[in-house]
Formats: sequence, structure tokens, C-alpha cells
Amino acid sequence: APARSVSARVAPLGSRLVLVLVEDRTRERRVEAVRRDFVANVSHELKTPVGAIRLLSEAVADAADEPEAVKRFSDRMLLESERLARLVQQVIELSRLQGDDPLEAPRPVDVDDVLAVAVDTSAIDADAKRITVATGGTAGLVVRGNVDQVTTAVSNLVANAVSYSEPDSTVLVTAKAVDGMVEVSVVDQGIGIPDDEIERIFERFYRVDPARHRSTGGTGLGLSIVKHVAATHGGEVRVWSVPGQGSTFTLTLPAIVPDPVSDPVNQEER
Ligand code: ADP
Repeated sequence: APARSVSARVAPLGSRLVLVLVEDRTRERRVEAVRRDFVANVSHELKTPVGAIRLLSEAVADAADEPEAVKRFSDRMLLESERLARLVQQVIELSRLQGDDPLEAPRPVDVDDVLAVAVDTSAIDADAKRITVATGGTAGLVVRGNVDQVTTAVSNLVANAVSYSEPDSTVLVTAKAVDGMVEVSVVDQGIGIPDDEIERIFERFYRVDPARHRSTGGTGLGLSIVKHVAATHGGEVRVWSVPGQGSTFTLTLPAIVPDPVSDPVNQEER
């Protein structure tokens, strides 16, 4: 009887092995296609600011005796080079995260600190539009992860909330514990996202309104970075939106639950 059960197992194992191989090749090919696509997209996206800077520097040289024109062209050169710098930085960030491999050495990350940095980072843009960015108390929540990645992800969500909101509105950034996870929510009263595009906004370089983008200076990479951070942390990012009323993004990450033994308050209760 043992011999039979062994051979009975060999057959399915053998066929499963073949299947795994086939899947692996498909995955390999897909990864390769995605990489080629990414390189093509990056090259395309880099060409725009690089081309603009080149034209503007020629314009500056031609306009040498018109101080006002020189000022106008060099201001635009500054904007374009900032855009270029942002793009390069986000491409590097994204290619670091690309594998979605789980984090190597996750550590406790204080959610309060993350929200504070994210709000600070968006302060200049928010002030310029008189947008109030408010945070709720996070009651000392702690997640398990990489502080830089988590901060980048939350900052991207807050920056978007500010970018896609009208002046004089409010952005609310809060966090709460849900089933062993921490859910960070960023709620805005902004332009919202059309139903038929909401699926696509996490794709690299995808923008709902590319024309508007030139002015907001976005790269189209922010949300794909958020998505990858969620994946490497074993969490997820979700969105609800009503066009014309606003959007809510939630980033859910694994919580570190305080150890009751080392928690002095709990100890006293025993
Ligand atoms: P970027 O903001 O640099 O364009 P993202 O990847 O962060 O790139 O966002 C992709 C697109 O999703 C944006 O271009 C915008 O159209 C849409 N979007 C993201 N966040 C919001 C938001 N809070 N409100 C409305 N639209 C948003």
C-alpha cells in the first residue's frame, strides 16, 4: 500500500512541475515586457523636460538684451528642471520597489511621526492654495515596515490630495487600528476621479488629465509607488471617489500590537 500511494503522488507532482515551468516562463516574459515598457515610458517622459530646458536655454541666449524675457525663460527653466529632478527621483524610488519582494528587515514605524512628516512636506503647496491639512490623533499606532517607504507613500497621498483640491478646502489625514492592521486615510474635497478611470490611476505614468498635469508638475508615478509600498509591506491601498466632491485613499499596513506584558498600564491591572 505505501508503494502505491507513492507512485500515485508522483504523477500529479510530475504534471504540476510542468505547469510551474510554463507559468514561470510566462511570468518571466511578462516581467521582461513590463521592464521594456517602463524603460520606453521613462525615456519618453524624460524627453519632455530635457527638450524644454534645451529650447529655453537657446531662447535665453537669443534674448540676451531683453531682461524681462530672460527672466521669464529662466523661471520656466527652473520649473522644468524641478520636474526633471522629481521624475528621476521617483523613477529611482520605483525601480527600488519594483520587485514587490517582502521587506528585508521591517521595524516599528510610528504612525504619528509619518503623518507629521507627510503634512509638513505638503505645507508649502497647501498654504499656496489656503488648503487646511488636518491630522487626527493616531493614539500611538505603530506599523511594521520601512519608515522611509511608509513616509513616501503617505506623503504621496497627501501631496495628491492637495494637488487635486480646489483652494480653501480641507484635507483630512487620520489613522485607526482595524483587525491587526493600521488604516491611514487621506480624505480630500477635491475634483475626484471618474469611475471609468479609477482602476487605472495606480498604473505607472497614468494620469486622468495629462494636460492639467503640465501645470501641477505631477509625474504619474506617485500612486504606483504607493501601490508597491503597500505590496512590499503586505498591505493594500484603496480608493473611493465622487467626481466633483472628493476622494478618499486608504493605505492599510500591518500593525504592531503593543505587548501587554511590557505595557505598564496593563501590568497594573493584573
Ligand atoms: P501624479 O499625481 O504625479 O500625476 P499619481 O500616480 O500620484 O501621479 O496619480 C495618478 C493620477 O490619479 C493623477 O494624475 C490624477 O489624475 C489622479 N489622482 C491621484 N490622486 C488624486 C486625488 N486625490 N484626487 C483626484 N485625482 C487624483
